[in-house]
Amino acid sequence: MITALQSAQSKRTAMPVPTARETVLELRGVSVDYGSLRVLQDVNLSVGSGELIALLGPSGSGKTTIIRSIAGFIQPSGGEIVLRGNDLAAVAINRRNIGMVFQSYALFPHLSVAENIAYPLRVQKKGRAQIRSRVDELVDLVQLSGHAHKRPSGLSGGQQQRVALARALAMDPELLLLDEPLSNLDANLRREVGEEIRRLQQRTGTTAIMVTHDRQEAFGMADRIAVLRGGRIEQLDTPDAIYRRPATSFMASFVGDAN
Ligand code: ADP
Repeated sequence: MITALQSAQSKRTAMPVPTARETVLELRGVSVDYGSLRVLQDVNLSVGSGELIALLGPSGSGKTTIIRSIAGFIQPSGGEIVLRGNDLAAVAINRRNIGMVFQSYALFPHLSVAENIAYPLRVQKKGRAQIRSRVDELVDLVQLSGHAHKRPSGLSGGQQQRVALARALAMDPELLLLDEPLSNLDANLRREVGEEIRRLQQRTGTTAIMVTHDRQEAFGMADRIAVLRGGRIEQLDTPDAIYRRPATSFMASFVGDAN
């Protein structure tokens, strides 16, 4: 672990300091209750254009609840979620231009790669020619040329996840939500697909939030990491700052445990 973290750090220190980015998404004092159980407490988070934020924390810390709230599957009991200036409470799920990639890929098994990628474009009633050229472009982008006619079952796990990524990017989403996108893959593929996701996210300039319980993934892929603990953000900072300046004793042992 120390090697992966340190190599992530050394790469980062060589990178230029990021310039101020336009805010795409803001969570303002978001709370979520399940019955009498408060599972998110006053979560504040501002995500800049083109940024990839990792939500990192132990199981049950509230990571999935945050992205489900942003996607619209859960209604927060307090606070606001604002996407490009629009309060999402007033925007129906199917009107949110948010792409999602799940751990389980969630591809349609009876549709080909091309048809899976085309699906959101068909739902939006785009023209045939437009769909075809966009699908070709996306198949190239995720390096699956030659596989477009195949069913998902004919692909490896890594290839299936790339199809899911292409489908999520098809509509040029304002925001991409990645829910443990690598956890179904074996260790070798995890690194490769993680790098691929990061490359495409940066290349397309897509703003993204990724849930992970894996520190190596968060440190290796994210611009900033929000560490969750018991439904609150314990620390939100760049991987380098979290590594060098853990803000609390919890964070110090959290970072220390990785060594
Ligand atoms: P994480 O993604 O970090 O593992 P979750 O956001 O899934 O955490 O869960 C946060 C808390 O909310 C946990 O205590 C979990 O048990 C609880 N929780 C999640 N979903 C439900 C639900 N549908 N009903 C009741 N409690 C839930």
